Amino acid sequence: MNLTDEQNEAIAKQQAHEVPTRRTVIPALEAIMYHPFPVLDEGFIRVVDYMGGDESVIRAARVSFGKGTKRVSDDKGLIRYLMRNYHTTPFEMAEIVLHVRVPMDAWRQWIRHRTASVNEYSTRYSIAIDMAQETAPDQWRLQAGTNKQGSEGLLDIKAGDILTLKEKIFHGAARDLYQERLEHNVAREQARKDLPLSTYTEAYWKIDLHNMLNFLWRRMDGHAQLEIREYATIIGEQIVARWVPFTWQAFLDYRLHATHLSAQAHEVVRRMLQGEQVTQENSGLSMREWNELMEQFPIRLQET
Ligand SMILES: Cc1cc2nc3c(=O)[nH]c(=O)nc-3n(C[C@H](O)[C@H](O)[C@H](O)COP(=O)(O)OP(=O)(O)OC[C@H]3O[C@@H](n4cnc5c(N)ncnc54)[C@H](O)[C@@H]3O)c2cc1C
Repeated sequence: MNLTDEQNEAIAKQQAHEVPTRRTVIPALEAIMYHPFPVLDEGFIRVVDYMGGDESVIRAARVSFGKGTKRVSDDKGLIRYLMRNYHTTPFEMAEIVLHVRVPMDAWRQWIRHRTASVNEYSTRYSIAIDMAQETAPDQWRLQAGTNKQGSEGLLDIKAGDILTLKEKIFHGAARDLYQERLEHNVAREQARKDLPLSTYTEAYWKIDLHNMLNFLWRRMDGHAQLEIREYATIIGEQIVARWVPFTWQAFLDYRLHATHLSAQAHEVVRRMLQGEQVTQENSGLSMREWNELMEQFPIRLQET
């Protein structure tokens, strides 16, 4: 990840700035404020602002005057109760602002999360960021057979070498064409139209904790595309885990690593636990549902 001297200087200045406050302060998050976490080859994520933390969730849930803290175990238990029972509004009381640099194809998926406020770098106004995400020769993923939206396995490196080389040439040609249009004084809004989707964009992204968790639930999941998953995993593990540790643990336990069963799947599990031999044919589940259920449980239920 490349930052200019000017950008590094701005970050150092931001990190040196301290003011006393009566607002909720999370020391673990303060320690990483403004720090850019690298993602992919040239992307990053950094926290530029936040409001509240676990304490704000607790205070809102109790509608209390105080700091929110009764006892740590009570606070933790309350957050877990709220998460378990989908009592979601207290989680809307905390907010965070991130500054992100993301390739446009991943950004296109990211921006589908409508409950965030976004301000994106304007390539009508400014010259497009001169960075495109490059794929290493050993990182070309193969089309998955069953999941039409997914990938599985990697292309052999010999073929990958050629694709990576051709990608470099293509990126260079697209950039040269863009540059040539600018030199002819073509408007930036039109000159940009053939820049590849791998071109990086930057944005400020503000979201409350409830909707952030929804974003992470969808985008940390194995079904999400690898590139956006890398962003979501860093946001989750490096940022949200520091910001709201009780909420983060409850989220891992009751959402990310939890299993949701349909009524029919629940019935299949019940029959299996009673020792019945259940097969896809007599389960009442479609093949797809059956396979998904079997995937959710690493131990094959029929064998218990
Ligand atoms: C693995 C994966 C594959 C996907 N594939 C596709 C695809 O093929 N094509 C495609 O177009 N999209 C696809 N999406 C995008 C997906 O359908 C959602 O649009 C995206 O994940 C945003 O989720 P969200 O609506 O929950 O988030 P947000 O927009 O942040 O909304 C959060 C919640 O707010 C509520 N909400 C927000 N806006 C409204 C509204 N207008 N009306 C009612 N309730 C609202 C809903 O409860 C929603 O869950 C995919 C997403 C994933 C994770």
